[in-house]
Amino acid sequence: MWLADCHVHSHHSIDGRRQVHDYCRAALAAGLTGITFTEHYDLNPAAEGFDHLDFARYAQEVEAARREFAGRLEIGLGLELGEPHLYREAIETFLSGKSGEEVDFLLGSVHWVGKEALHLEFGQHCSGQEAYQDYFTEVLLAVRAGNFHVLAHLDLLKRYLDHAYPLEAERFREIITAILQETIARGIGLEVNTSGIRQGLGDTLPGLTILRWYRDLGGEIVTLGSDAHRPEDVGADLSTGLATLEAAGFNRFGHYHHGQVRMHPIVYT
Ligand SMILES: [Zn+2]
Ligand SMILES: [Zn+2]
Repeated sequence: MWLADCHVHSHHSIDGRRQVHDYCRAALAAGLTGITFTEHYDLNPAAEGFDHLDFARYAQEVEAARREFAGRLEIGLGLELGEPHLYREAIETFLSGKSGEEVDFLLGSVHWVGKEALHLEFGQHCSGQEAYQDYFTEVLLAVRAGNFHVLAHLDLLKRYLDHAYPLEAERFREIITAILQETIARGIGLEVNTSGIRQGLGDTLPGLTILRWYRDLGGEIVTLGSDAHRPEDVGADLSTGLATLEAAGFNRFGHYHHGQVRMHPIVYT
């Protein structure tokens, strides 16, 4: 079946390893038909990846890989925008210098709440429940800005807090519903990020409950990504992501090309 990993970081991200070419080889070895790179684009001066991306070099490397893997692998050029709602103008300026065909895919992510990055000690000054509430509030603000295609890892904070405060989605149903309604109203998709499975959470981000809510509210656009930071993880647990989507009632998933979504059926052979 047609399947792409739509969340991948190469060395063009501060925390990625190896070259674009190495990830493309890994994608073919994993039986994928496509891969979309989503290098970090962080404008928060306190973020580790601030000012790391050299877009021209990144685009050149993707172009070279497209020539090398032509006819065998569809290679997308994307960006993972950190807190896009806080840097609207700078992002618009950055993107306005690029043609519509140059950037295939924009993920919107919240990795920071105020001056605090998400990490294991996030929200120490308050309860876990308050920390989740603060996080989802920031995600809602990001979605309201609407300047990206797909919301990445909606419940990312559970990656850090789950050991002490497992996320009980039902307790945050009101704000999560507001986030989902906003994405649907704006035509923003929802990512199923499978990194949680290999990182010990044993669950996708977001998990089945939130995906069901999204479906029940009328959400249709879902994308799949491993959030690989090394070639070995390309395509990791996408099959579990597909099974989770099916369990939530989806029979299709999306993929972005030149900023436009294409839907593909979930089929098992
Ligand atoms: Zn992220
Ligand atoms: Zn990422």
